[in-house]
Amino acid sequence: MSNKLVYLFREGDASMRDLLGGKGAGLAEMTNAGAPVPPGFTITTEACKHFAQTGEFPRGLWEDVLCSLKDIEGQTGHGFGDAVNPLLVSVRSGARFSMPGMMDTVLNLGLNDQTVRGLATGSGDERFAADAYRRFIQLFGKIVLGVDGRNFEDILHESKGGEARQDTDLSADELREVSRRYRKLIRAEAGREFPQDPHDQLRSAIAAVFRSWNGRRAVDYRRLNKISDDLGTAVNVQAMVFGNMGNTSATGVAFSRNPSTGEDVLYGEYLVNAQGEDVVAGTRTPRTIAEMAREMPEVYHQLEAIARQLERHYTDMQDMEFTIERGRLYMLQTRTGKRTGAAAVRIAVEMANDGLIERRTAVLRVEPSAIEQLLHPTLAPDARLRAQLLTRGLPASPGAATGEAVFDPDEAVEMARAGHQVILVRRETAPEDFHGMVAAEGVLTARGGMTSHAAVVARGMGRPCVVGAGELRIDEATGILSVNGRSITKGQFITVDGATGEVFAGRLATQEPDLSEYYRAVMGWADEFRKVGVRANADTPHDAAVARRFGAEGIGLCRTEHMFFEGDRIDAVREMIVAETIEERRAALAKVEPYQRDDFGRIFREMDGLPVTIRTLDPPLHEFLPKEEPEVRDLAKKMGIPFERLQARIAALTETNPMLGFRGCRLGIAYPEITEMQARAIFAAAKDCRDNGVDVRPEVMIPLVNTPQEFRHQAEIVRREAAAAGFDGYLVGTMIEVPRAALLADQIAETADFFSFGTNDLTQTAMGISRDDSARFVPLYLEEKILLNDPFQVLDQEGVGQLVKIAVERGRATKPGLKIGVCGEHGGEPSSVEFFVRTGLDYVSCSPYRVPVARMAAAHAALKKMTATGGNDFGQLT
Ligand code: PEP
Ligand code: MG
Repeated sequence: MSNKLVYLFREGDASMRDLLGGKGAGLAEMTNAGAPVPPGFTITTEACKHFAQTGEFPRGLWEDVLCSLKDIEGQTGHGFGDAVNPLLVSVRSGARFSMPGMMDTVLNLGLNDQTVRGLATGSGDERFAADAYRRFIQLFGKIVLGVDGRNFEDILHESKGGEARQDTDLSADELREVSRRYRKLIRAEAGREFPQDPHDQLRSAIAAVFRSWNGRRAVDYRRLNKISDDLGTAVNVQAMVFGNMGNTSATGVAFSRNPSTGEDVLYGEYLVNAQGEDVVAGTRTPRTIAEMAREMPEVYHQLEAIARQLERHYTDMQDMEFTIERGRLYMLQTRTGKRTGAAAVRIAVEMANDGLIERRTAVLRVEPSAIEQLLHPTLAPDARLRAQLLTRGLPASPGAATGEAVFDPDEAVEMARAGHQVILVRRETAPEDFHGMVAAEGVLTARGGMTSHAAVVARGMGRPCVVGAGELRIDEATGILSVNGRSITKGQFITVDGATGEVFAGRLATQEPDLSEYYRAVMGWADEFRKVGVRANADTPHDAAVARRFGAEGIGLCRTEHMFFEGDRIDAVREMIVAETIEERRAALAKVEPYQRDDFGRIFREMDGLPVTIRTLDPPLHEFLPKEEPEVRDLAKKMGIPFERLQARIAALTETNPMLGFRGCRLGIAYPEITEMQARAIFAAAKDCRDNGVDVRPEVMIPLVNTPQEFRHQAEIVRREAAAAGFDGYLVGTMIEVPRAALLADQIAETADFFSFGTNDLTQTAMGISRDDSARFVPLYLEEKILLNDPFQVLDQEGVGQLVKIAVERGRATKPGLKIGVCGEHGGEPSSVEFFVRTGLDYVSCSPYRVPVARMAAAHAALKKMTATGGNDFGQLT
C-alpha cells in the first residue's frame, strides 16, 4: 500500500486517477493550473480498499486528515468547529471511473448548534444559516446514519403546510423547528444523537463514503458497466462555498467557447443567489453569461481569464462549473466540453492557428461524424424538443428533410413542380421511382435495408432517407400511412432525419449546411496526413462533378445500370433484359449504346486526369422488371410485341431469390453481346476524349465473379473491344463480393489488374442475410445485442473482414502490389475505413456526399497507425 493516504489538492495531478479518483485528480490538476479552487484534500482509493477489508481506517489516516484540515483552515481563514468563524466542508466520493449518482455526498459538514450561529453572524443571514444546518442534518441523517430519506421529506413537507409553499418560503424559525424535528427523528430511527462534534461528523462521513463503495446501487452499477469491485473510491474533502449568500453570489456553468458554433467567446448561464441544485431543478430561468458582463463585470472578466487559462492548460475547450460567493469566484469543476460538428471544426482550426495544438491534433479532434453533420441539412437545435416522433427506421442517408407526404413518384414530381416540398413515402423503391426521389426533399420506406435500392440511390444523390421503418403501414393507393395509432394522409407534413432514422409528424425547422473556411482548412490538413485514396461511387456526369467538388480522387464504382434511371432510358434496358432472341437484344442494345458512350465521355471529362472504374451491367432483375400491368402494357407497346408474350417472358424471368440470381457477370456470360456493347461504348468514349486532350484512365470492372473462369471470359471480351478500338492504358479488374472469390483470390489475380471489394454483396453472401430484407430482424438483433452494428452499415470486421484480409493476402501473393479498393457502402463508414486502411487497401470509394467523411476517417486511421508504430511513418507523410 502506498504510504501517503491523503493528498492536498496542490499535491496531486491529472495522472493520478487510480489513486485520487477522477474527481480528485481533476481538482488537483485544476488547482495546479492556477484556478481558484476552494481548498481541499483527497483521501486515496488505497485507504478505501483497506477500510473495505478491515472495517477500519488505515493507521495514520485520521492524523493525516487533521493535518490537511489545518491546511484548509490556513488557506480559508476559517476554523473547523470554530463557533465564530466556522469552516464548513463537503465530503464527496470520487472513483477512478465516473459513477454518476451512485455514491454519496455530504454538504455543509462542520455545522452544529454553536457554529450555525457563527455562520449566521458571518453571513449576516440567519435564514441562510438555518437552512444550511437543516440541509446538513438531513444529508448526514440519511447518508451517514442510514435513516430513510423519505422521513425527512415528510417533515419538510408538513412544515410547509403541504404543497402550497416552497422551501424558500420557510422562515429561519420554521427551519430551526424542522432541524429540531429531524434530530428527534434521528434519535428514534438511528438510536443515537446527531453528533455535535465536527470531528465526529467528519470521521463518520468519511467512513460512510467508503462504505457506499459497496452499497447496493454502486455494486449494481459496476456490474452493469463492467467496472472492477477492487478499485475503491477516493474521498474528497473540500471547503464549502455558497452561491446563495445574496445578490452578489451566484452559481453557473460556462463553456470556454460557444459549443454550438465554436466561436471564441465565453458561453453559458448562471443563477443569482442560488445553489447548484437550483440550476439543475430548472425552476428559475438562468441568465446568460453575456449578461454577467454587465451585471458583475469584474467577476466576468476573471471568469473569462480563468477559462482561457484552463483552456490553455488542457489545450481544449472546457465546460466549467463555478460558484460566486459574495463577489468571489470559485471553480468547482472543469472538463472537456461537448460540441456540435461545426463547433468541433472551428475550434480545432482556430486552436491550431493560434499554436495551441498541432495540426495533427486538430485533425484528430474532428470526428468523421462531425464532418457528416456539416454536409447535410440538420434539424434546427430546438426543433427536436417539440417534435412528435412517429417511428424509427434505418438511417439510410443523412440529413433532415421536411415536406408533405406523397405516396406516388409522379405526384411527387407534379407537386414539386407546383412549388411544394414533398417527402416520397413508399413501401420500398425501385428504379421507376427515381424521378420521384429526385423531386422529393427526402425519402421514407417501410421495407429495405441499408443497401437496398432506396438507400443506395438516396445516398448517391445526397437525399435524406429513412428506410425499413417496419412499423409503418403504407397504403400507396389511398395515400395514407399509419403508425402507432396515428395516420398521416397525403399532403400532411412529415419530417425525416436520415442521420438518426427518426420520422416525425409535422413540419420541423431544418438548417442548411454551411461549408466554412474552417471546414476547408481542416480537410486540407486531413489530406496531408491521409495515405489511402478516396474515390466516389458516381453513376452520372452530375454525380461525378459533385464527387470531384467534395474531393474525390477518381471514381471507384460507376454502376452502369444506374445510368438508365432517367426518362425513357429504363425502357431500353428492360427491352434488353426481356429480349428473347439475339436479334431483339441487339436491337435494344443499339438503343442503349449511344447513351452509354455519351455518358462515359462526359464522366471521363469530369474526371480528367483521374481513374474511372466502370462496372459492367449488374441489374438485380426484381429491381428492373416492370411489375404493374399498365407498365407491362406500355413496354409491350413500345417493343411492338403482344402484351401476353411480354407477360409470359417476365414470368419466366421472375426469380425466387433475385439477389442470388441472374445478375452480375452471369448476365454478361449468358449474353456476351451486352458486355461487348458496354466495352465498345467505354473505349469509343475514351478514345474520343484522349484524342481531344482529356487524360482518361478507364478501369473496367466485372461484378459478382465466383470463379477465375468467369472473370477470364468477361475480361477477354473487354480486351478484345479495347484492341478493336485501338485504345491502351486501361485496366480490367474484378469485384470481390462473394466468399468464393475471396478464397480464390490468388487464382483470380493471375488475370485481374485490380480488385474492388463489393462489401454489400460480400456481407449478404458471407452472412447469408438478404440485403433487402435485413430490416425485418436486424433492429431486433441490435436491441438484443446479438449484433452490435447493422452489418450493412458497419463492416463486420470479425467475420466478413477475414474474407477481405484473405483476398488481399492471396491476391498480392500472386501479384505483389496488386491495386485493391473497396466500393461497397462501407467505404464511407469511418470505422470500416479504418479497417480498410489497416488491411492495406489502396483506396476506398463511397457516395459523393460521404467523400469528405471518408477523407477524414482515412486521415484518422493514418494518424492512429502512426502513433501505434511510434511515429516512424511520420517523416514519409510530410
Ligand atoms: C457491393 O455489392 O458492395 C457493390 C458495391 O455492388 P452493388 O451494391 O451494386 O451490388
Ligand atoms: Mg454488388
